[in-house]
Amino acid sequence: MKAIRRFTVRTVLPEPLRPLEELILNLRWSWHHETLDLFREVDPVLWERVRHDPVRLLGEITPERLEHLAHDRRFLRRLHDASDELREYLTAPRWFQSLGEGPRAVAYFSPEYGITAALPQYSGGLGILAGDHLKTASDMGVPIIGVGLLYRHGYFSQSLSPDGWQLERYPPIDPNGLPLTLLHEENGDPVRVSIGLPHGHDLHAQVWLARVGRVPQLLLDSDVEDNDQAARDITDRLYGGGGDHRLLQEMLLGIGGVRAIRAYCRISGHPAPEVFHTNEGHAGFLGLERIRELVSEEGLGFEEALEATRAGTVFTTHTPVPAGIDRFPRELVQRYFGGPNEEHHVPVERILELGAENYPDGDPTVFNMAVMGMRLAQRVNGVSTLHGEVSREMFGGLWGGFDTAEVPIGSITNGVHAGTWVGREILELAAREVPSIVEAGQGWEKVRDVSEREMWRVRRVLRERLVQEARNRLRESWRGRGASEAEITWIDEALDPDVLTIGFARRVPSYKRLTLMMHDPERLRALLLDPERPVQIVIAGKAHPADEGGKRLIQDIVRFADAEDVRHRIVFLPDYDMALGRLLVQGCDVWLNNPLRPLEACGTSGMKAALNGGLNLSVRDGWWDEWYDGQNGWAIPSADGLSGPERRDALEAAALYELIEDHVSVVFYDRDASGLPRRWLEMVKHTIATLGPKVLATRMLRDYVMEYYTPAASSARAMSEDGYAGARALASWKQRILKGWPGVAVEHVESHGEESPHVGTRLEVRVVVDLNGLEPSDVAVEIAYGRVDDSDAIVEPSYLELSCQETADDGRLRYTGEVPLVRSGAFGYSVRVVPRHPKLANRAEMGLVALPPAPHGMTNGVLR
Ligand SMILES: *Cc1c(COP(=O)(O)O)cnc(C)c1O
Repeated sequence: MKAIRRFTVRTVLPEPLRPLEELILNLRWSWHHETLDLFREVDPVLWERVRHDPVRLLGEITPERLEHLAHDRRFLRRLHDASDELREYLTAPRWFQSLGEGPRAVAYFSPEYGITAALPQYSGGLGILAGDHLKTASDMGVPIIGVGLLYRHGYFSQSLSPDGWQLERYPPIDPNGLPLTLLHEENGDPVRVSIGLPHGHDLHAQVWLARVGRVPQLLLDSDVEDNDQAARDITDRLYGGGGDHRLLQEMLLGIGGVRAIRAYCRISGHPAPEVFHTNEGHAGFLGLERIRELVSEEGLGFEEALEATRAGTVFTTHTPVPAGIDRFPRELVQRYFGGPNEEHHVPVERILELGAENYPDGDPTVFNMAVMGMRLAQRVNGVSTLHGEVSREMFGGLWGGFDTAEVPIGSITNGVHAGTWVGREILELAAREVPSIVEAGQGWEKVRDVSEREMWRVRRVLRERLVQEARNRLRESWRGRGASEAEITWIDEALDPDVLTIGFARRVPSYKRLTLMMHDPERLRALLLDPERPVQIVIAGKAHPADEGGKRLIQDIVRFADAEDVRHRIVFLPDYDMALGRLLVQGCDVWLNNPLRPLEACGTSGMKAALNGGLNLSVRDGWWDEWYDGQNGWAIPSADGLSGPERRDALEAAALYELIEDHVSVVFYDRDASGLPRRWLEMVKHTIATLGPKVLATRMLRDYVMEYYTPAASSARAMSEDGYAGARALASWKQRILKGWPGVAVEHVESHGEESPHVGTRLEVRVVVDLNGLEPSDVAVEIAYGRVDDSDAIVEPSYLELSCQETADDGRLRYTGEVPLVRSGAFGYSVRVVPRHPKLANRAEMGLVALPPAPHGMTNGVLR
């Protein structure tokens, strides 16, 4: 019989074991081996059966065993040590505390989080990154509060049908069976967050609190009795449904998320966030909620509240793939934010403008969440240097007439959390041989002194573990697909702990090209079966449930890997999650990545592999474009832009085969007299020594704190001081600029020194501008100069501000300046007027620029 209600009965621990509960409720165990060792000791057999999930462990342990442990002196001593250690970790000052400045608190919003496989609230890189961000913030003492949703069915778990088709299962989760606690008011009532909906009844949510080390994480959950069934189902699945369902999820995340933070800070005394960081556009409505707060509580006007909000908002864009960006029909947004649901002084027309694609090639019928996110944030970044460039190109239309290079989108390259991803044996090796890395994150170069024998031994331990666990998973998968025991005896011999092992694991959108390696199946077969230098490949990945094309790719791979002649050398392991990911990035010798450049914004799995001594074999995209150095792996040449998609696949696949055949496997199997692959190990050490300090999330978070959070916090303070005087002044200044700008013009440009220019002289430039009533202090008049290309474009221009000399009789202004001619060759210059205000973070911020009339051929860009 099927149960109509499901819940989890919590164990009551005997008094001496109480600290165990605290250890389990703080997710720090997910990256702390000593705590996991302690959990294992609670019941080693059960620990394996519950797949290292401590909450399930407590749920299923027998009272007899608990009673026994309650009298086990040795266990109790270890328990107290662990508990003391946790308390110390939670309270001791860390890196951030030594800064002496920075935001009082930062709110971090993400639709998904990958903290541990036991909390399946993530689908891929975005969520894993968010999890690593919180864990690293905890390690570094950065005062972040995480905000997300709690999905009752998480993301699906994957299995295969007999013919290799992806099957999805959404096991229900019971929050009481997870390491979460319900957030309560001081009087004991559960906190309720509500948001108004147009048809009268509100949407309610409760708030779960997870503790990620020092970082509180708030997860909103609409499955409460005050809601009707449809509303209860809003937080059913990660990225489930479309249209209304998705919009409501995002309203709950953005608007409800801010309200949850307010409740949490009120109850716990946590300082209010000064900075709001939104991880991709899904949480963008948080900006509207903060505007509403300021309008209703501080009496600001909409534009004033917008300035105050923008100043403290950081927006990170994560993908150049259009399908990864949320776009809603405008009517839908109109319906939920307009009519009877319109907030006082927060006009829906103005909201619609924030998400409008009103730039060339934009679609006038949609509301774009990324575009709104960028307009609501004064600071925007991409997630690798290349992705920053691609994003400036992609979103440049939002900043009107500025050159792409000046579009104010920066970049911070992602990083990964070492404690989560680095194999224990590697950590122990480092602690033994290069303790300065583990203790202070320094001295990476000393990795080169580690003994090669030791390094090779550890690499083999990790590869062997992968092989063993892959066999277990393979058996389970084949049984699930209906194979009999007799049919799977070959699995005992599948994969080989001494064969060069290549890993490929990722989500399966088409741009990642799961099946590129099968472009020429015969060539692949030859690589796998090479008698001297065989290769084995371990593959994993989930296709989005609605992506039939992705499922077909998985089926193609599975069918190939099912074939009797190669199945011991190529395997597809179902249900890619953090646990499997960890196994793979630790055990593989080579990490393969072959996306269509430049669609991989960053990619982080290759970073995890590198930290474990894996070598990357990848198209130069995302992070690899930045940090490939010729000795830390191999770059698959990209036929980016040269040819049609089919020809491109053929070229890149051929290059891939050639690299594996002539380089990767040659180096791997080149052994010295003692059996060690010297050259390979040199590359491994070089990889760890040089990439280690770069790919760590501590580097990433330091960059966010210094380049984004701290400046954003001071901008936000400058806006809010003296009853939001700064925000009021900036908003009214902007209105004045916007009004006057269409009449601002560069009327006349002349220069002296062009007759016989040579290096060392100066070019004197005089300009007459009409400011249309604006003050000289409102603008900067700049000369842009430098080398010009064949089309007269100035390449990487330098800028020089001109000074205002006088006001001519007709109200026009004269500016002059001198440009140094420091380089010979083709030289060009132009002049522009841009708005200037100390509270703008960037001169392109307003998208306003006035340029001289043709022949320069550009027009004044006006966009806000
Ligand atoms: C690291 C990781 C990802 C992201 O990896 P990419 O290289 O960005 O594709 C996705 N899923 C899991 C389970 C991971 O561990």
